[in-house]
Parts: sequence; C-alpha cells; structure tokens
Amino acid sequence: MNILVINCGSSSLKYQLIDMDNEKELAKGLAERIGIEGSRVKHEVIGKEKVIIEKPMPDHKRALEIVIESLADDEIGAIKSMDEIGAVGHRVVHGGENFTKSEIIDDKVMEGIRECIDIAPLHNPPNIMGIEACQEIMPNVPMVAVFDTAFHQTMPKVSYLYALPYELYEKYGIRRYGAHGTSHNYVSHRAAEILGKDLKDLKMVTCHLGNGSSVSAVKDGKCLDTSMGFTPLEGLIMGTRTGDIDPAIVPFVMQKENLNPEEMSDLLNKKSGVLGISGISSDFRDVENEAEKGNERAQLALDMFKYSVLKYVGAYTAAMNGVDAIVFTAGVGENSPEDREYVCDALEYLGVKIDSEKNKVRGKETIISTDDSKVKVLVVPTNEELMIARDTLNLVK
Ligand code: ADP
Repeated sequence: MNILVINCGSSSLKYQLIDMDNEKELAKGLAERIGIEGSRVKHEVIGKEKVIIEKPMPDHKRALEIVIESLADDEIGAIKSMDEIGAVGHRVVHGGENFTKSEIIDDKVMEGIRECIDIAPLHNPPNIMGIEACQEIMPNVPMVAVFDTAFHQTMPKVSYLYALPYELYEKYGIRRYGAHGTSHNYVSHRAAEILGKDLKDLKMVTCHLGNGSSVSAVKDGKCLDTSMGFTPLEGLIMGTRTGDIDPAIVPFVMQKENLNPEEMSDLLNKKSGVLGISGISSDFRDVENEAEKGNERAQLALDMFKYSVLKYVGAYTAAMNGVDAIVFTAGVGENSPEDREYVCDALEYLGVKIDSEKNKVRGKETIISTDDSKVKVLVVPTNEELMIARDTLNLVK
C-alpha cells in the first residue's frame, strides 16, 4: 500500500509518498508560499529529476490538488492515479492530553485536535486545514493523525507538572507536553533494533539536535521526561530560542524594553539562542564558519549549545538511575562530530567512550562508541515520515 504523509504549516505543505510494501520512498516535495504571491511546488520523484511547479495556490486545498496531480502525472509522477494512494498520514503538532497515540481521523478526533488550538495556536490550525483539504479531495481514503506530543504522554506527573499553582494546570492545561515525539519515538526504536535489544530493557537518552532541539529520557520503552515543555521554547539552547531561562527575566525585560507580550514572545522564540548569542545566524554551519575565523561570540554560542545538551543528558541519566544508550539525531546531531565528542567525553566518568574514527560519520546509522564502552552511543538519522507512515498503515490495515 502507498501512503501519503502530509505535514502542513501555515503557508507550506510537505509531502512524501511511501510504498509500505518495502518502506521505499517514491516521491517527496514541498508546496510553499501557499496563499501568497510566488507559490510553487518543489517536487521530486525518486530516480527522476527534481521539478519546480509554479502555479497560484490560494489555499491548502489547491496546493494539495497540484501535489496529487503531480504525483499521478505521466511524466513527473510516481503513480498512475490517485487511487493508488491507500491512506494518508497527517502530522499533527499538538494532541494535548487528548491523544496518547496515533488515531484514525473521524469527527471525534477532529474535535480533539480543535480543542488543542488554544495551546498550539500557530500549529494546529494549518494541520486542520491540511486534513480538511485531503478529506475534500479524497473523501474515501482513510486518514490517520500522528501527534508530535503523543510519545511524551507517558511522562509521570512529577516530570510534566510545573510548580505553579495547581489550578493553572486544571484550568488551562499548563504542563509539559514536549515536542519532536515522532522523532524520539523513531530513533529510540531504531537504536534498540540496531543494538539487538528490546527497547523495554534499555535506559536511553535521545538527543534531537536541529534548528529546534530536545532531549528525551526513554526508560522501559516509555518517555520518562523531555526537555521541551508547555511550548517548544523550554530546554536546550536552540537556533533562535532561549531554552531554559529564569522566568523572572521575562517581566524584567518587558518593562525595561517596553515590550508587549507578543514582542517578548518574539524575542524569546525568534531572536535568542545561537542567533542571539552569536549575532550572526541561527544556522549552525554559518556560526561554525565564523567561529573558525576566530569570532568569539560565535564560539561562545556553540559552546553554550553543547553545554546545554550535556547538562540534559546528565540530568536524564540521573533521572533513570543510569543510561545504556545515547542517541544523536537531526541536522546537528547527525552531522556534528564535534558536539557528539564534547558531550561523550564529558560523560567519560559514566563509562561513555567513543571511537573518534567512527564518530566522523555524518547522517548515517552508526554505533560510534567503542566496543568496550559501557554506554552505547549511536547516530540514527531520524525519519519522522516513515514513522507516520508506519502508524498509518498499522491503523488502517
Ligand atoms: P529543523 O528540522 O529543526 O529545521 P534540522 O534537523 O534540519 O532542523 O537541522 C538544521 C540544523 O542542522 C541547521 O542549523 C544546520 O546548520 C545544521 N546542520 C545541517 N547539516 C549540518 C552539517 N553538515 N554540519 C553541521 N550542522 C549541520
């Protein structure tokens, strides 16, 4: 069965078509600038040349129509007709406490996703638009919602509650939800497979280090804790986000700089992190280039980032009373031997030893610890689309 995986943002629609008989990717692409001038689809069928389709796309429905026409096109397509799409898997950012696992989409599930708009006002509305567009175009195709928060719903109260007045949790659902759940889920399962162990017997720390970054503690096959919180702002220092700061800084800066809540949120989410410290860029490659040229603030930003990763790995090792495996994934985690080496060398006292030759790897599944390392360390490229497609297949078959 072919499964179409859809990930909708406010002006974008990412897609991937996967043949689940062999888990092979058939096509993928990105519709961007939906609703604004210059909209286009970057479309790629595996084994064929990439194409760019420039067409007006006033809304997600039109974008999806163009995507499906392209997928079923004689020349640039991967399938003969839309009928070859057996099911659709939708990435949904926030499932709140309503969803602890992926679900077949029906009216009740849609209602549950709508209920979470309050806590994910930027993300859930475009996800809903994507689902509705698919339902209009493919009314008879089963669809599944895969939630980025679901994997973290196993966290116990001690991990997910904030020490605010308890009523705020009850009234507004203020608690840790985490994010990147599909990625942490995928890499933890994959790492267990690579190690030839049952995930249930492992204590694992998974480090998703990209533009947005988070670390999770996975014990007995369940998420015990994760660094992102009520929103993806908490935890590690990120490309443009602060990560953990003293919350008292927020009213202090608002008063001093005369900022309203929206402007303050912008400062914390879009102007801080590696960008804020370096003053250069949120992209690690740009910052690395400048650091190499001797830019001290660029170096400081990189040092602060990896130090924040190290602290979380240490904290989660304590929370699990040990660690059997540490996994690195996403743009930086898969591609930065320096950051992996820094974290692992600092954990030598726990029995972490990496092989510097093996650690040179970029973007490939590899065990980078030495054979005698007490703690296994792995690079596992994440594959959220495949995880979504697997969940979708399992539910519709
Ligand atoms: P997201 O999905 O959160 O946007 P990614 O997981 O794609 O992010 O990671 C993006 C980050 O990974 C960027 O900051 C980029 O600089 C970094 N990155 C990608 N490739 C490399 C590389 N070869 N070396 C170092 N950093 C890299």
